[in-house]
Amino acid sequence: MSELHKFIFDGLPVRGIVVRLTSAWTEILRRRAANTTAGAYAPAVQQMLGELLAAATLMQSNIKFDGALVMQIFGDGPVKLAVVEVQSDLSLRATATVVGAIDAWASLSDMVNRDNLGRCAITLDPGRRFPGQQPYQGVVPLCGDRGEKLERLSEVVQHYMLQSEQLDTTLVLAADDQVAAGLLIQRLPMQGAGNLAGGRRSMADEDQIGLNEHYNRIATLAASLKRDELLGLDVDTLLRRLFWQERLTRFEALTGDAAPRFACSCSAQRVDAMLVGLGQEEAQSIIAERGEIEVACEFCGAQYRYDAIDAAQLFNPLAAGGTSSAQ
Ligand SMILES: [Zn+2]
Repeated sequence: MSELHKFIFDGLPVRGIVVRLTSAWTEILRRRAANTTAGAYAPAVQQMLGELLAAATLMQSNIKFDGALVMQIFGDGPVKLAVVEVQSDLSLRATATVVGAIDAWASLSDMVNRDNLGRCAITLDPGRRFPGQQPYQGVVPLCGDRGEKLERLSEVVQHYMLQSEQLDTTLVLAADDQVAAGLLIQRLPMQGAGNLAGGRRSMADEDQIGLNEHYNRIATLAASLKRDELLGLDVDTLLRRLFWQERLTRFEALTGDAAPRFACSCSAQRVDAMLVGLGQEEAQSIIAERGEIEVACEFCGAQYRYDAIDAAQLFNPLAAGGTSSAQ
């Protein structure tokens, strides 16, 4: 099962989070692979999307915010768009739009940043907006300050956190076809809530960037975490192995019903309503032409199919048996 663990280093201005997405991640991959049009992701895309999802889950659970955190990567390669959405209750979904073939082990640049036009955007969309309130959005390029291409998503997000939030952050991310996982270590702001949710930042806080010896020591330990360890180790073993010389206080883990989990807002009922809006005549002409109506959810890949009987029942609920079904 998926799980998320928060902890602090006793007496030090440093906190951390580990997330392991298992069932939530494999459900996303299963739906995509079952989509007869799009098909399964290439391994390189799978890794990028899984890491993006782990990063967004860490960031959402690191802020006090009621609404959706959306992370997008878009650029000038065959991956036109990768987007993940994590709600404040940690329900999540993810998708990527891919045009053309991708080498199994293509780099981030190969996929979305061939000519340094790739961008990563982070949007906070409040669940309930005040009149006139706009979603908050921050955007960073997929390159460093001197234009050098960044090949790790973790470097992109660290860059974002330092640039937009003035917060020292270390991220380790990894994903394969079973697990999407991440470790976040962050230096706590000196005062106020200097984070994405719009708190104040003080000058004293900015002056501390890169200077806190405790943060630097812990960040170095965190950065030594290998991809295979992050994907393969249980959280207790992982934290013990990395931080056995530090004193940690761990908070109650989010597991079971409280854990991050897959959820998409699409449903057979919503597609039914859309087809009813389209009208019976139009629906029947599509069935006459193609034999069925197929509607796919752009976000999770689920396909909803209607044959002539399904359509007859939709427009005349009392007249026919049979129901539409999602795959
Ligand atoms: Zn969906």
